Amino acid sequence: MAEGVRGWGRRDLLRRGVLVVGGVVVGAGTSEAWWATHRRAPVAAGPGAATVGNGQQDVGSGALEVFWSGRTSQRLVALTFDDGPAPQWTPMVLDTLARHRVPATFFMVGAQVRRHADVVRDRLAEHEVGNHSWDHRNLAELDPTEAYDDLRRSHDAIAELTGTQPTLLRPPFGQMGGAVLHAAARLDYQLVLWSLQMVEREFPDDPAGHARRIVNEVRPGTIVLGHDVGARRRLVALRGLTDMINGLRSRGYTFVTVSALLRASVAPTPTR
Ligand SMILES: [Zn+2]
Repeated sequence: MAEGVRGWGRRDLLRRGVLVVGGVVVGAGTSEAWWATHRRAPVAAGPGAATVGNGQQDVGSGALEVFWSGRTSQRLVALTFDDGPAPQWTPMVLDTLARHRVPATFFMVGAQVRRHADVVRDRLAEHEVGNHSWDHRNLAELDPTEAYDDLRRSHDAIAELTGTQPTLLRPPFGQMGGAVLHAAARLDYQLVLWSLQMVEREFPDDPAGHARRIVNEVRPGTIVLGHDVGARRRLVALRGLTDMINGLRSRGYTFVTVSALLRASVAPTPTR
């Protein structure tokens, strides 16, 4: 997608909901949907802002894409689960996904990977694993070196677990401020947020109702945010996972990993 938008002017990019940061950072997505579902605004600037230091900087390939959803008219949907792995719920989620042959994307916390590798070892072949930081601190509050070191440490833990270098980053709390983008560029990540999130609080003890709500709101290219770790109230979404999968399939949706969704995405077409 980066190739498709690099020739545009800055105003074109902004008008189309494409994120431009620091002159070299571009991304595309449905920012309205993300803002509508995200209660807290990201930190706009921090100690590192979009660039850091003087002299030549290590910025990986020199550009960074940010995605809230896939850009496709195909009925593709990506389920994502954050904050794991952990022994309480992660195996249940993996069991449900395996039973229905649904690939998903897990944004894992590096320290949890080190602690609970046995929970997920040899169970991730159909899935994708992205980086969700080392221990879920707000990276936007760290200085550039700390932010990079945090992500690098988690990156290495995930690579060791899966045998594959992760290519996706979801920063904790969706915070993109401070040096987050710069650190992500150094690691050549694609930055992935979400366009729909589970709404567990609205459906206490009603897994089927929660599943219906999510099924109704999914659109082609939706990236759904869920958690396989956390407060007990979150269980309602996981208990309704089978209903959610069946409901989406009955509407013609195919489940894909985030990277597969992004590969199926098309660049927006400039109007002039
Ligand atoms: Zn998280």
